[in-house]
Amino acid sequence: MNDRYSLFANRFLKPSGTKQLMADLSEVANSDAPLVNLGGGNPGMIPQAHALFRHRIKTMLDDRSIDNILRRYDGPQGHLGFRKTLASQLSSRFGWSIGAENIALTAGSQTSFFMLFNAFAGVFGSERNKKIMLPLAPEYIGYTDVGLVDDMITSRPGAIEITGEHTFKYRLAVSDNDIDSNVGLMCVSRPTNPTGNMITDDELRQLTDIAARANVPLIIDGAYGLPFPHIVFNDAEPMWAEHVILCLSLSKLGLPGLRTGVVIADPETIEMLTAMNAIFSLANNSLGAEAVEPLLRSGEIFELSRNVIKPFYEQKLTLAKQWIAEAFGDLKVYTHESEGAIFLWLWFPDLPIEDMELYRRLKARGVLVLPGSYFFPNKDADVHHQHECIRLSYAQDAKDVEAGIRVIAEEVRRAYTESSN
Ligand code: PLP
Repeated sequence: MNDRYSLFANRFLKPSGTKQLMADLSEVANSDAPLVNLGGGNPGMIPQAHALFRHRIKTMLDDRSIDNILRRYDGPQGHLGFRKTLASQLSSRFGWSIGAENIALTAGSQTSFFMLFNAFAGVFGSERNKKIMLPLAPEYIGYTDVGLVDDMITSRPGAIEITGEHTFKYRLAVSDNDIDSNVGLMCVSRPTNPTGNMITDDELRQLTDIAARANVPLIIDGAYGLPFPHIVFNDAEPMWAEHVILCLSLSKLGLPGLRTGVVIADPETIEMLTAMNAIFSLANNSLGAEAVEPLLRSGEIFELSRNVIKPFYEQKLTLAKQWIAEAFGDLKVYTHESEGAIFLWLWFPDLPIEDMELYRRLKARGVLVLPGSYFFPNKDADVHHQHECIRLSYAQDAKDVEAGIRVIAEEVRRAYTESSN
């Protein structure tokens, strides 16, 4: 506790997985030493997508449409043209009954979660706190620290199902009983960061039914998912309903630096977010929305997602799985079924060292990953398992991913060998 600052500020000064992750990212960006970064959520460099966005920004310079973006504050709900186009595309493609009033833009999904989590959970009166329920842990590290009251997050660990000699999958194990009157909001990432789990359409219906019965909104975090950037390797449908809050982002299309989050929800929730946007920041950066709007209108974003972005990651995944099989050989390792997103989630049953120690040993050898326990918000849940996992990103250069996997296998082998000596 630093008593120079308020309790509010001290919340952000506590150790946090998200801060560690972002610090690692900037260490990589600023380091002269060769570091293999398999840690962060940076999207890969996809030449065709990058060229398309560069071309759009060049057009905005040439036709001077950039001038309005540079010179004017946008409205606090976000770029009207983008919202109208997105609503019309989603209505015509998926039959959703939405308009521009169902959409707000934010400074990235991370900001969306900060606003939504603290709006639907936290202090509701002198006697009453409400919580966020994550129905399938492990879950995205970025959710853990956004609450402005203690212990805001509760979660239901997935049930482990072994699906092959070296593969497994977490299955949804939540039921109506988990959603009592203290739960204010449910949230699931689809596909899931860190595991690559893609909850099926049926499982999603099950979840939305549970949320509807409890009269609690459900956030579907589609940062990697549907309908864009479509980093999803099996068949699944995008989904929205009255009590669903769909959070999308332009980041994993290849524009993380433009900090553009998209929230699709009922108009009352959108009004609340608009008010928060105005007070937090007057308005958001609208460059991302302006750049992407014509690509949404023409449908190119959907085609780019399905035909370029998805195959780019699918190809990388195939290689990464092959390198894991080669490097780990007969070592005890299970990889989560990779159905989407840009990560591999490795589980080393009975690993003799904790995930944090493995993270440190790997970092000392110039390889950054993320310790698994960061992704389990309830520290008391299945203590062993959460310390036996790590997450690695396969989005970066092939030679880095291959080299990193080799080092991970060496360190895991060393840990098992040391303990048996
Ligand atoms: N949701 C998930 C599951 C993520 O992995 C990330 C970033 O890595 C985000 C949301 C945040 O996205 P944004 O860049 O829009 O804040």
